[in-house]
Amino acid sequence: MEFLRSNESQVRVYSRAFPTIFNRAKNAHLYTDDGKEYLDFLAGAGSLNYGHNNDVLKKALLEYIENDGVSQGLDLWTTAKHDFMTAYKKHILDPRGLDYKMQFTGPTGTNCVEAALKLARKVKGRDGIISFTNGFHGVSLGAVATTGNKNHRGGAGVPLSSVEFMPYCGYYGDAVDTVQMMDKLLSDNSSGSDLPAAVIVEAVQGEGGLNAASAKWLKDLETLCKKHDILLILDDIQAGNGRSGDFFSFEAAGIVPDIVTVSKSLSGYGLPMALVLLKPELDIWNPGEHNGTFRGNNMAFITAKTAIETYWQDDIFINDVRQKSDLLGKRLKAICDQHGSGLFKLKGRGMMRGIACSSGELADRITARAYEKGLIIETAGPDDEVVKCLMPLTISAADLNKGLDLLTDSVNEVLNEDMSAAS
Ligand SMILES: *Cc1c(COP(=O)(O)O)cnc(C)c1O
Repeated sequence: MEFLRSNESQVRVYSRAFPTIFNRAKNAHLYTDDGKEYLDFLAGAGSLNYGHNNDVLKKALLEYIENDGVSQGLDLWTTAKHDFMTAYKKHILDPRGLDYKMQFTGPTGTNCVEAALKLARKVKGRDGIISFTNGFHGVSLGAVATTGNKNHRGGAGVPLSSVEFMPYCGYYGDAVDTVQMMDKLLSDNSSGSDLPAAVIVEAVQGEGGLNAASAKWLKDLETLCKKHDILLILDDIQAGNGRSGDFFSFEAAGIVPDIVTVSKSLSGYGLPMALVLLKPELDIWNPGEHNGTFRGNNMAFITAKTAIETYWQDDIFINDVRQKSDLLGKRLKAICDQHGSGLFKLKGRGMMRGIACSSGELADRITARAYEKGLIIETAGPDDEVVKCLMPLTISAADLNKGLDLLTDSVNEVLNEDMSAAS
């Protein structure tokens, strides 16, 4: 560990909270070099919805490698790409009545956000983008300009321009309709708000603290975008692939975004892969105008296709996810109720939930205590005050309950310490 500590850049994050060396992982479990076992409520920050080393996906991947399937294909057509696109269209897009073209970008989330922003600006011939308070869309320059977090923005080193931030759903409390505010600003010739090319939004803000927009707010936002000729970019990188309780996080709102960005759990196996879904009429790219060497991670195509065919041909998996989300919500609510709303507040939606603590310091002590007890769990939010549950969707009910027991115990122990210190 000392070798790692002194040789790896200090930009690292997760290995600070969990300073150990992992050598094996299976579904919702991580194992260390020295034989310790952890339950994983972080799940690759939402990139492991189908768990670590999912057996079905692993088998398909091993077969593909064994048969010398194309591994790196730039943007060449391969059977792996063909089969992924066919499965995605047949089992995901068509049943939901969605008509999108698929653009493969470099393999990380921020890569597909860059592409989406560029395309929107090209289509509309305007440079402005509206993003939202507490939004997180990645840390490359275009994307980080749409990210609210001060720490991330500060790393840019150049002015972050052409982005205006508007208040997200509920930012000023439930009584203030922030889409109505935007409509007034955009309708007023003298408000100082220029007409943007696009709005970029998460239906549930992941890094920003598990803020879930209401279905009505999202629907109103879609209407507002249409009214003012603005494109709607829905960033589904973290909330997508089943995490919200539907395949796409925007389904419950009944909206059809112009552009959708997808990554994190898309490959299903933790392999890097990213995708932009765009309405066909927006596809005005020149060949190669946006590109990248690694736009054809064929191993990711294989596992992504297998994940779709395994989990999304019928409702069995998503119904199971919804049951687990109910359980998760009930158990987190029990923690909040036990200690009063001054200390904890329930946040999020689906299997993307957590508890907002009264301070970042309290959240930090809770997650540190959980780690001592064998639970890997992280925080999110402007002050890292939200303890965030992001376990694999494939976690067993027993492991889900066990992890929540450990979290409940951690909360109780930390609060008891405070009480005995005060008396
Ligand atoms: C993680 C995330 C990104 C950035 O993805 P990277 O792969 O880290 O570049 C963008 N948007 C959202 C909503 C995310 O959660």
